[in-house]
Amino acid sequence: MDDSVNQEKSILALEVTEEQKEVIYNLFCHNNWDYTEIEIKENKEENKETNEAGDSEDFEEFLIEQNENFDECPYCLCKPCITHENNRQMWWESEVQMAHTRNSSLRKTDYKYFWTNLFHRRVWQDPRYLERKRAALRQDPRRRNYIYHRRDLMPKCVIQLVRSWLPNLPNVPYMGHMWE
Ligand SMILES: [Zn+2]
Repeated sequence: MDDSVNQEKSILALEVTEEQKEVIYNLFCHNNWDYTEIEIKENKEENKETNEAGDSEDFEEFLIEQNENFDECPYCLCKPCITHENNRQMWWESEVQMAHTRNSSLRKTDYKYFWTNLFHRRVWQDPRYLERKRAALRQDPRRRNYIYHRRDLMPKCVIQLVRSWLPNLPNVPYMGHMWE
């Protein structure tokens, strides 16, 4: 249960690396905590001035670069695919779990993590993705037939990997069509 709802919130500003930031994001996801990112303008200005290299990159919005040495996945639009070993995250399942009815809710948690990974690669803003999303919404205006997280469609590669980790019992069909 989320007991953080009734607790008072305060702002915590930390200077972190991209890696540390991703770990923090994953920790929040893991605990089902919501967070609000707050841009701290004063710090930004100060840091710009004191940064010897004049390098303001560190203060730009968190972005994970695509690796141009790999082909782009036609589903998640990442190089390499977000489900590729190179993109392995700490929370990835290391072995296939036993088929179980509870797996359906565990899959939702994994979709949430993948949503965050794809968010940091700007996939949700890609015009090609937005076009596919519009097409899917035309077919499924109530968002019942595809797998969504935060109103975004989970790509086929993610669904396949997560279902392989956390399978349904035999003869239990999966909810949600594959979006391609
Ligand atoms: Zn992919």
